[in-house]
Amino acid sequence: MEISTTRSTTAVSDERLAEILANPGFGNHFTDHMLTVEWTPDAGWHAARIEPYGPLSMDPAAAVLHYAQEIFEGMKAYRHPDGSVWSFRPEENARRMVSSSHRLALPELPVEDFVACVDALVEVDQRWVPSAEGGEKALYIRPFMFASETFLGVRPAQHVTFMVILSPAGAYFKGGIKPVTLWLSEEYTRAGRGGMGAAKTGGNYASSLVAQQEAIGQGCDQVVFLDAQEGRYVEELGGMNLYFVHADGRIVTPETGTILEGITRDSVIELAGKAGYQVEERRFSIEEWKHGVTSGEITEIFACGTAAVITPVGELKWDGGSTPAPAGGDGLWERLRAQLVDIQFGRADDTHGWMHRI
Ligand code: PMP
Repeated sequence: MEISTTRSTTAVSDERLAEILANPGFGNHFTDHMLTVEWTPDAGWHAARIEPYGPLSMDPAAAVLHYAQEIFEGMKAYRHPDGSVWSFRPEENARRMVSSSHRLALPELPVEDFVACVDALVEVDQRWVPSAEGGEKALYIRPFMFASETFLGVRPAQHVTFMVILSPAGAYFKGGIKPVTLWLSEEYTRAGRGGMGAAKTGGNYASSLVAQQEAIGQGCDQVVFLDAQEGRYVEELGGMNLYFVHADGRIVTPETGTILEGITRDSVIELAGKAGYQVEERRFSIEEWKHGVTSGEITEIFACGTAAVITPVGELKWDGGSTPAPAGGDGLWERLRAQLVDIQFGRADDTHGWMHRI
């Protein structure tokens, strides 16, 4: 894919950039450039370009604004101690976007084009990748694809736009890692059989907001969703996958189908397997959770995703009850987290071949 580049003439000054990178937060600041590619049935993917970052001009009848035909990805670029910049398993994000595109009737962007687009934009804006001394700061990468056709009929759009934007992100936990408390959503579900649960599409996040709001109202950090059919099986959090560590060395994580197949989830399966744990991907009921914690069979619960990497799970609350945090095992979550973060930031050998140099 040929990508043209028009450099910004109003790029942020080095002084201002240093201020931003000192305390980036999440999703507040965007880099000097953005990448755009267009698709039509006749021309396929074309007009790939990097341009100065700025607002889009869009027709009010653009299909995405009405029927939410949209998908996205989330990944990061990390600066290593020698100054080089790397992404983590980018082909996996590209493949996940291909499966999301199939579910949302969007055109397929080939894996190599996805990776080339991300690489090209990060290369242009590489001064925005925080330095290795900055703790766990990294450059968050947000590729997304949407129905840009001006048409109000309900059918797959005949004009689609793929874009990449970048945003520096600080350490997820400012005051050190604390267990997250969870609210069990019994009224709302995230995904039904045949639905879009496995796709990374805006609609799934729109439907999770009211449940997340309920969680916050109940003094919890995050919401846990159960399966839509039986209301019995644990699926995932609003933005993270779950793991249950048992005293006998077994680890259970909910099976795929209606959940988002996290790339961190997959990496944890590999790392835990190598460390001698037996990982089971299967249905896991809410009774098993409650009973396992009470009986002491479950020693640790943790959640994982690109943003927070791995975080321990504490108390689970629901309407009329709660289950305490697991007693705590030998800190598997902490060892896995350290291993992953060390690979991502280039402090440990990448024996899995997960890192991709930009
Ligand atoms: N589940 C949901 C619903 C998510 O939004 C995310 C974040 N992408 C995850 C799980 C974790 O996925 P990953 O490890 O690829 O970030």
